[in-house]
Amino acid sequence: MRFVDEYRDAGKAGALAARVAALCEPGRSYKFMEVCGGHTHTIYRHGLTDHLPEAVTLVHGPGCPVCVIPMGRVDDAIHIAGQPDVIMTSFGDMMRVPGGTGSFLDAKARGADIRMVYSPLDALKIARENPGRRVVFMAIGFETTAPSTAMTVLRARDEGIGNFSVFCNHVTIIPAVKAILDSPDLRLDGFVGPGHVSAVIGCRPYGFIARDYGKPLVVTGFEPLDVLHAVYRILLQLDGGRAEVENQYSRVVPWEGNPRALEVIGEVMELRPYFEWRGLGFISHSALRMREEYAAFDAERIFRIPGGRVADPKACQCGEVLKGVLRPWECKVFGTACTPETPIGTCMVSSEGACAAYYTFGRFSRERVREATGG
Ligand code: SF4
Repeated sequence: MRFVDEYRDAGKAGALAARVAALCEPGRSYKFMEVCGGHTHTIYRHGLTDHLPEAVTLVHGPGCPVCVIPMGRVDDAIHIAGQPDVIMTSFGDMMRVPGGTGSFLDAKARGADIRMVYSPLDALKIARENPGRRVVFMAIGFETTAPSTAMTVLRARDEGIGNFSVFCNHVTIIPAVKAILDSPDLRLDGFVGPGHVSAVIGCRPYGFIARDYGKPLVVTGFEPLDVLHAVYRILLQLDGGRAEVENQYSRVVPWEGNPRALEVIGEVMELRPYFEWRGLGFISHSALRMREEYAAFDAERIFRIPGGRVADPKACQCGEVLKGVLRPWECKVFGTACTPETPIGTCMVSSEGACAAYYTFGRFSRERVREATGG
């Protein structure tokens, strides 16, 4: 297939859904986790759950980078933004993420200079244009976005731009998946593996999921037929008594990943001993920080951040949603106190967040209506 509409062909989707149904053992139910928020978006945007048999449930995982940023780190970033001469820059998704003292948008309304950028290179350009100001880039994301942050730091070094720094909040996917596998709350039968992050790390790091936990994982793309195909291939493995890592997204993901991207991450960043994830708590070796050699570009070293831990609001159940234990509509404040306009938790902010995806596309899905009516 070459064109995007071929990956959205309703006839092919129906045929694939029928093959999925044929593979389900009578009386057995299956629960698969889509690790990546991009997949959640695809699933609800295209109504895929309505085409899957009732025996198959897809639950959301921790792969939305905005959703996993804890409130304390948002407060730390707002603290940096409030320092003299600072211009804080951030992806648009971060602007409404609530911290204990409000969001970036609230801080901007109070007078902080916080600007939305599309890439770290935009932040570097602002630094170049404002030599008398200190420009900080709020870096978030998995291994997918870490290479562009690292490349920008190298460029700042090469160009001798001394007023640019990074507040590094990059996280790594494997420890989070392991934490979920070790969680007693959840019984999973397999994983729809993330596409973007795998383009950088490759498929090999998922080997332990099949080997040690006996769960199939199929790395897949973001079109509806990609996701249905991944579900089909997971079921095919279960039917054959296999647990393996497969790559459905070979048109984008090399099995070994992108060695140059991994190299540049390793040059500029190193693993933190531990990092707090919203809803998942502290996970060891699950995030990146700047190496000592790049201390001059490390906002965490340049500015004294409070570094406090802030508990999520009582009503917020993002943690359960991020672990796939609760579906978004099962949260008590979903769609009432918590909406995309007035988010209480992070999962309602980013388009990759499970709650935002369900709110926008999935509120009237067959699955939800069935549960709501007891049908
Ligand atoms: S509805 Fe809001 S508070 Fe509840 S889990 Fe979703 S984002 Fe979090």
